Amino acid sequence: MTTVETAPATPLTWRPPAGALWSGRWVDGASTMPVHDPEDGRLLGHVTDTSPTEVDQAVTGVATAVASGASGKSWPPWKRREALEEAAALVLRRRERLAEVISREGCKTLREANGEVSRAAETLRLSARQTDRLTGETLPFSDTSRGEGRLGWYTREPVGVVAAITPFNDPLNLVAHKVGPALAGGNGVVLKPAEATPLTALAFAEILLDAGVPAGRLAVVPGTGSGAGHALVSHPLVDLVSFTGGHRTGNAVASAAGAKKTLMELGGNNAVLVLDDADTPAAAQAVVAGAFGVAGQNCLSVQRVFVAARIAAPFLRHVIAATEELRVGRKADPRTDIGPLISEREARRVEGWVQEARESGAVVHTGGRRDGAFHWPTVLTDVPADAKVMTEEIFGPVLVVEPIDTVDEAVARANDTRYGLQAGVFTTALDTALDIAERLRVGAVMINDSSDFRIDAMPFGGPKRSGVGREGVRYAVEAMTEPKVVAVRRGA
Ligand code: NAD
Repeated sequence: MTTVETAPATPLTWRPPAGALWSGRWVDGASTMPVHDPEDGRLLGHVTDTSPTEVDQAVTGVATAVASGASGKSWPPWKRREALEEAAALVLRRRERLAEVISREGCKTLREANGEVSRAAETLRLSARQTDRLTGETLPFSDTSRGEGRLGWYTREPVGVVAAITPFNDPLNLVAHKVGPALAGGNGVVLKPAEATPLTALAFAEILLDAGVPAGRLAVVPGTGSGAGHALVSHPLVDLVSFTGGHRTGNAVASAAGAKKTLMELGGNNAVLVLDDADTPAAAQAVVAGAFGVAGQNCLSVQRVFVAARIAAPFLRHVIAATEELRVGRKADPRTDIGPLISEREARRVEGWVQEARESGAVVHTGGRRDGAFHWPTVLTDVPADAKVMTEEIFGPVLVVEPIDTVDEAVARANDTRYGLQAGVFTTALDTALDIAERLRVGAVMINDSSDFRIDAMPFGGPKRSGVGREGVRYAVEAMTEPKVVAVRRGA
């Protein structure tokens, strides 16, 4: 592990046209808020701190644009597909700019930010493809005596205005996962990006408009959660709230939204099970990559590993060795594996949770160190079952490894959490793997991989505290559209 080096930072090469986008125009609202690079606190620029009155203007503008083309005539599916395909191409053409903004205002290394740009283009391509699935079917009216003499069908209609609330950790692709499906389904979208990462959202909005998305259908209202966020989700003209973030915020959003359709992608404290027949070094490598990518600020990060006692010692040695090879450093340095947390405050919180575990008997094998917003990748054992690093979502570079004696114990420990996003299982015994996959209460099980794997086309989300509904382009489009029945009484 290396220490963070100091180097002079340069200003961003791209600036947004204005601090917000609403009523089909780039605008600067009455108040602004600063955007900083969490690595060194350097000021990157300002965006609008959108007020509730301005949010009202934005929502009303989008609702009006959607209502004027309510049947989809003004922006039919083929035009949506063309715009989303063009947006995917533009995302790739503006890769350098996007990667720079993602990395500078957020917590990703430049390498990780480049990966996110590719994923976002894929999410938009998948969204474009969904426009040919906006189909219904004929209904069997004559199958009931009451329906005789009638002919009917249903079509899929947009829900109307989608409020998208997004977190800081994937500031481009998680925005694309909401905006792409919402637009493909024929909706309008008002986006409230995370406080820390609004510039990426504005760069993305610029791309969507350049690609031909009608300006009135999209608004971006940067601001705080309690200000712009609350005003948006509680707005009466919003038809659906699509939220990604922490569980506690999810509760606040749900109660402010009231009786609206709501989709929630929340957190996880994901488990990986390593059985005694697993390829120990390969499992250790995958676990380390899954635990410490983006400094653990990923809802799919590996947090808890339950490893068969027989191989626990060599597995832990491999994990520690692979962790100590990771280089902590500046995000722009191509040699860096692990950048900062999103703020020094978050790094201090992670440090506090590690300290709490240590005070109650946990052993710190490597890491356990903080410098500003940087927290070194940390491997713990002997963690009490009620320590926060075990029960809550750490959202930082901390991994807990625990030996277990039986498969039943591993499954029980993995399920002993209020979360249920994803899990991983390492074993060469297919039947055992499938049996475990059935018994784990999560949204997805990765066999012979860590919990940290996803393609953008799969249904994504989990039970318990991990969410409500599923994202993943096709499933989001389904949720953001609704069936509408038309029936004809013949001979009337
Ligand atoms: P957060 O919950 O603090 O904030 C998420 C968003 O909600 C931000 O835009 C914030 O401004 C907004 N917000 C806050 N209070 C609000 C309110 N009262 N009304 C409306 N909006 C409000 O989350 P974060 O720290 O940005 O992100 C980390 C969390 O996101 C983690 O828990 C992580 O697991 C979760 N996450 C989940 C997924 C997933 O797909 N399941 C993906 C990424 C991140």
